[in-house]
Amino acid sequence: MEYKAPRGTRDILPDEMHLWHKVEDIVRLVCERAGYGEIRTPIFEYTELFERGIGQVTDIVEKEMYTFLDKAKRSITLRPEGTASVVRAFLEHKLYARPQPTKFYYIGPMFRYERPQSGRYRQFWQFGVEALGSQDPAMDVEVIGILIEIYRQLGLGGFEVQLNTIGCPECRPRYRDELRSYLGGRAGELCEDCRRRLVRNPLRLLDCKEPGCQRAIDEVPPIFEYLCDECREHFEGVKALLSALGVSFVINPRIVRGLDYYTKTVFEVVHSELGAQDVLGAGGRYDGLAGECGGPPTPGVGFAAGIDRAIQVLSAGAGAGEAGDAESRPGDAGAPGPDVYIAPIGREAKAEALKLAFALRQGAGEETPGAGGLKVETDFMGRSLKAQMKYANKLGARQVVILGDEELHRGVALLRDMSTGDQEEVPITDIVKRLSTFGRAEAATVQEATGCR
Ligand code: AMP
Repeated sequence: MEYKAPRGTRDILPDEMHLWHKVEDIVRLVCERAGYGEIRTPIFEYTELFERGIGQVTDIVEKEMYTFLDKAKRSITLRPEGTASVVRAFLEHKLYARPQPTKFYYIGPMFRYERPQSGRYRQFWQFGVEALGSQDPAMDVEVIGILIEIYRQLGLGGFEVQLNTIGCPECRPRYRDELRSYLGGRAGELCEDCRRRLVRNPLRLLDCKEPGCQRAIDEVPPIFEYLCDECREHFEGVKALLSALGVSFVINPRIVRGLDYYTKTVFEVVHSELGAQDVLGAGGRYDGLAGECGGPPTPGVGFAAGIDRAIQVLSAGAGAGEAGDAESRPGDAGAPGPDVYIAPIGREAKAEALKLAFALRQGAGEETPGAGGLKVETDFMGRSLKAQMKYANKLGARQVVILGDEELHRGVALLRDMSTGDQEEVPITDIVKRLSTFGRAEAATVQEATGCR
């Protein structure tokens, strides 16, 4: 084949889609219940937004952005993350003038020119939340709590919440200086990137994975001793509230996050099943970002979590057993088969089959369009009756309506229950009513069993 998806991208085929829908449904449910509203921002923005918002001295801006000139020669960048766009929208629409906080969530693709490897793509998906307008440590904890609740509802266990603080523009420079003077003496042991970071952004050294750098930073004092009173109090507040909420966490002084805009709280959720790319989701507080983007100073806190990676863990079956109430959601084992397969035999029957399929899908007789509609398939391959029955069985159809020309002339069809093999003749005029009732009864049982609508 001549064409392939570009390197680092891939197709998500319908076979896999039930898991994507499951993640998206749970994200929506958990966020909406917490009062977060969905926001959809453009997939591309003017490049300056990310340069300004994310920071010049970051891997993303230095190496990973998909940037190009449009026909009007404006520099455009495919969004590498969601926060800068959300803050831009918050400012552009003057949402700060409304009662605060403003709470958003989003789901969508992000683009980074990274070296593709397991769990790392050039187009990947994230869900995330951003809460703007509150400085309260409780806001940080709500945000972290939401991420954990999403994983809980997904039945995804075996992760660890790691927490740190990186101070604020008041206290961080002291720590930066300390790092520079401490690590400056060991510059020879550092990797090339870190030697550069030492000058421009020494905090980034702390999360370098190179063994030489790891050894050098092993004895570096943690930031806690350098925090100003406000940052220390905030950190204590976050820890206390997380504990009160029953969220277990560990302190990891090595978490600094790649982006410049973070202040105070930073956190990562890591999963042991993921290998080298082990971060499922991460976030933090960014009190300086709105001001940096030219708006009124507005505190904010949020996270972004990889959907590809969550699905990687879910498909590997890891974490099963610690599932919450969502364990038995329908559709877990793939898209459910059709409620009804209509098997026409002969030309006239074909038209009747198509009409019947549309009527059953509409949920004919219902007041709300589509309500009570059934999942219905029919023949498009000109298969024999035998082949159609085999196909219906393979699809997992629960009922089959057999429409032969001869039966059609008598105004009847054969209705076959695929689980029992029972078959009966039913007047065609009754079929929609008969099968719609069947669909409702089934739906009610599923709803009862799962508590889902
Ligand atoms: P970040 O915006 O870098 O903090 O990333 C947040 C989350 O998005 C990570 O924890 C990953 O789950 C996911 N993620 C980031 N980059 C990629 C990528 N290149 N491919 C797949 N997932 C990614």
